[in-house]
Amino acid sequence: MNTQRISAVPPMIDRYGRIIDYLRISVTDRCNLRCVYCMPAEGVEWKPHGDMLSFEEILRLCGIMAGMGIRKVKVTGGEPLVRKGVAGFIAKLKTIPGIEQVTITTNGILLEEFFDEAAADGAGRPVDGVNISLDTLDPERFSRLTRTASDAFVRGQGLPAILRALDRAQTLGIPVKLNCVPLRGFNETDLAGIAALARNVNRAVRFIELMPLGSAGSLEPIPGAEVAAMLEQAYGKLIPYTGRLGNGPAEYYSLPDFAGKIGFINAVSEGFCETCNRLRLSSGGILKPCLSSDTGKDLRALLRGGAPDADLAAAVAELVAQKPPSHNFSAVYERERTNHVSGMYHIGG
Ligand code: SAM
Ligand code: SF4
Repeated sequence: MNTQRISAVPPMIDRYGRIIDYLRISVTDRCNLRCVYCMPAEGVEWKPHGDMLSFEEILRLCGIMAGMGIRKVKVTGGEPLVRKGVAGFIAKLKTIPGIEQVTITTNGILLEEFFDEAAADGAGRPVDGVNISLDTLDPERFSRLTRTASDAFVRGQGLPAILRALDRAQTLGIPVKLNCVPLRGFNETDLAGIAALARNVNRAVRFIELMPLGSAGSLEPIPGAEVAAMLEQAYGKLIPYTGRLGNGPAEYYSLPDFAGKIGFINAVSEGFCETCNRLRLSSGGILKPCLSSDTGKDLRALLRGGAPDADLAAAVAELVAQKPPSHNFSAVYERERTNHVSGMYHIGG
């Protein structure tokens, strides 16, 4: 944590009174999986490296935004851990004055390697928290959901590698949240088992409602209320948890005899926009005010055009002023029809 020299910065507040202090950075569109709700089966056309922001460019932007009130950073993707050098990049992010928390969201396949690399670099705790996506504990369904049936490594080793990384994070004392997207016809029989990963260990298991982005439009979500009913049937009454846990929109609950918490991100059936605190930076350098936004600021063009810090800060402030009151998934459906890319791998879910 690095709070010195910058504590006097006033918070960045949008026109709806929301404090914007959280930046999600997608460091790559690439991924070693092809989850059915996120990526097209054939994968995506990979951006040439030169089109992605370099780590130095991202660090410069983060320094500027920390000076404007950003306090927490999430490194995501695509799969952030497939980008070479990400451990060193995260170590540098953690030293930026004003940035209080750096966390990652990962599918977990390369997480052990990341921990090893960070340990070899002598980093203490390499990140302040890890969100690991896990939609099933069954190897066959894992292959089907992640479309990795033909990938010998992921088919055989993927799920065990994720579970080992989960234990390792626990051993390192890194807070873990598990993210699961319930999908009708794919993983309804797994949900109680995934929730049970929070029974003996104090970690959070969150159920994220399917959002109609990218290739998800044709899939059927299982609404949060239905998942909650399933869990109550298996484990007893869900008791609302009023304490603070994380920076995001999840609502948390306790279950009898559970050491950890169960979270619900009911993005579609309930919405979470009133308390939205975030901006999103795509790997190509577009800063977006909302995950359903079609518009954004092209910070890469400004960076590479030689813009001074003051111009970059002005662009960020202008974007915050344009942050919409809520997401608009029907506009996303419309965009999909005209073939714009908007899967989570692209926006930085
Ligand atoms: N590859 C990493 C991972 O899977 O955790 C980070 C990027 S992924 C886009 C971030 C999160 O977005 C994951 O937890 C994933 O389950 C979620 N996600 C992707 N597409 C989604 C969709 N259409 N609806 C809801 N969540 C989605
Ligand atoms: Fe990759 Fe994450 Fe998207 Fe799955 S959800 S395809 S792991 S980016």
